[in-house]
Amino acid sequence: MRERIIIGIACLMLVFSGCLHVKGAEISSANTTEKTTEDTIVTAKPETKDDAEKTKKKKKIYIDPGHQSRANGGQEPVGPGSSATKAKVSGGCCGVSTKIPEYKFTLKLGKKLKKALEKEGYEVVMSRTKNNVNISNVERAKKGNKSGADICIRIHSDSIDDSSVRGVSVLYPSTSNPYPIKKQAKKSKKLAKTLLKEYCKATGIKSRGIVVRNDLSGTNWSTIPTVLIECGFFSNPTEDKLLNDPEMQKKMVKGMVSGINKYFEY
Ligand SMILES: [Zn+2]
Repeated sequence: MRERIIIGIACLMLVFSGCLHVKGAEISSANTTEKTTEDTIVTAKPETKDDAEKTKKKKKIYIDPGHQSRANGGQEPVGPGSSATKAKVSGGCCGVSTKIPEYKFTLKLGKKLKKALEKEGYEVVMSRTKNNVNISNVERAKKGNKSGADICIRIHSDSIDDSSVRGVSVLYPSTSNPYPIKKQAKKSKKLAKTLLKEYCKATGIKSRGIVVRNDLSGTNWSTIPTVLIECGFFSNPTEDKLLNDPEMQKKMVKGMVSGINKYFEY
């Protein structure tokens, strides 16, 4: 009888171990080992690289390269149900040294990021793949919501009336956001943190930190965890050249991929 009870407990532990094993990964109890002695120990094997790759394949990333070749000054609500409005798509900035417009930079980097993420096993959807489009920020957010993506990364570059300012910041919605994106505030903050940390590590670009922004229509209309990365300052002559350098862009992409991996805890 005592033996039966012990075997029963052992089986129960084995079942629990199977349930608790590694978030998101569909792994059966075949990955557990069992000792049949009285001090039954059930251990789970660490997730293999193959398992991680399979899990990544199930994750979908939505990339929104900021702006487009022509601004659209038409107005749209900054959030669902809001009476406050903003331009559908603003013009974006332009590199003070390179003269490269922000919309070209964001699309180039967005496409490189897409390629790198796909290589990692992610599925990627883009808000735009051409510069000559007319897609408002609200439409971009809605496209992301419909895509079934797990997260949304909005790519931008910064500009300010002070050429000495440089660095990267990642903007995210907070728990005091009045729109449905509020539900994703915690996850968005986590993504902002991992993305910023890994981006800075890979590029050496100065961190300006993560920043709460509840006034961005492209974020407020989203329903999935959303961040906006201001990759650096186009108004700083050195940083503008750096951000548009293909070698640096490789590092930026590497950092972003690593930040996304860290978010999903791969
Ligand atoms: Zn921008």
